[in-house]
Amino acid sequence: MSAISYQKVVKNFGAFQALRSLDLALPDRTFLALLGPSGCGKTTALRILAGLEMPSAGKVLIGERDVTRLQPRDRDIAMVFQSYALYPHMTIADNIGYPLWIRNLDSVKRGAKVAEVAKALEIDHLLDRHPRQLSGGQRQRVALARAIVRDPAAFLMDEPLSNLDARLRLSMRGEIKRLCQRLGATTLYVTHDQAEALTMADLIAVMNAGQLQQLATPHEIYERPATRFVATFVGNPPMNILSAAVDESGLHVGGSTVRLDPEQHARCLGAGITEMGIRPEDLRFAEAGSVLTGEIYVIEPMGNETLVDVRLGGERLSVRAQRGFTAAVGSRIGVTFDSTDVCFFDATGSTVVHRVE
Ligand code: ADP
Ligand code: MG
Repeated sequence: MSAISYQKVVKNFGAFQALRSLDLALPDRTFLALLGPSGCGKTTALRILAGLEMPSAGKVLIGERDVTRLQPRDRDIAMVFQSYALYPHMTIADNIGYPLWIRNLDSVKRGAKVAEVAKALEIDHLLDRHPRQLSGGQRQRVALARAIVRDPAAFLMDEPLSNLDARLRLSMRGEIKRLCQRLGATTLYVTHDQAEALTMADLIAVMNAGQLQQLATPHEIYERPATRFVATFVGNPPMNILSAAVDESGLHVGGSTVRLDPEQHARCLGAGITEMGIRPEDLRFAEAGSVLTGEIYVIEPMGNETLVDVRLGGERLSVRAQRGFTAAVGSRIGVTFDSTDVCFFDATGSTVVHRVE
């Protein structure tokens, strides 16, 4: 397997810029999730690496090789699509062995290799069937088997689980992660689902509007988001954002003044803070009249926990409460937090002070 890098990659579609100078390096044997909302340029980035799209500027490297001008078949990568793209008239064995067949591997070696990957993915009992006779999850495994059958330099996956039902999606998420770990595969995995990225990836690259926002571990992305965009795209429910200001007397939010940790306070002064962010699990209910006071708007029991939506004037807060939490909708309630769990943003949406870890 090989490292992958994008160097100042730009992609224009007419006057529209889908990628604005993307720089991204993915170390060898790493599982990287390219995460962002629909339309942010994820598929475009993947197709440029696969050679299905030419960049308008910049280059892409696989290992040491500059592959920017190579044909897709010369790039030594395997791609798994959302639609699986299996050949309906071929058996499962022939579908899996197809990449070996087009490379003229003899039928004995081909059969052995197909049997090996089919066993690894627990689809060896399906080899004589046709795609239409398989469930969605089984087809997804066949698509994966076809991708791994020839030991490519890297795997590219574009939302490979989005056509599966919720339960299957959860189990396949674990399986793909295990498989990639076992193979030591360099994997670029495109998703708009932050939970998939957080649970599967070694590294997450968060993109918005054709630009990389942050490249970091899932822990870092969650605990130390580089921008307001990352803070509110990752996490479910996302981080709460409130208008805020910091001066010598402390943090001003929701009509109250909160004392800050001295070191955090010093870093906030003069940093141009306009907003604060806090995760739903870092908020607690308290007496009305504590730091923040609002009105209960919606209560959502989720089984293992309860999400409570509180309105504070024009702003809203999601609070993660215990299972069984009850209160009257419309009642006034206090909300409090530890200031060390707060992060701070400036007017450009950059995180200027992180939470204290
Ligand atoms: P994502 O995969 O993140 O949803 P895409 O990479 O598919 O986003 O698309 C990024 C943007 O580029 C979108 O606004 C899309 O409409 C545009 N785009 C993608 N492919 C083409 C194309 N062939 N022609 C024109 N615009 C395109
Ligand atoms: Mg896409």
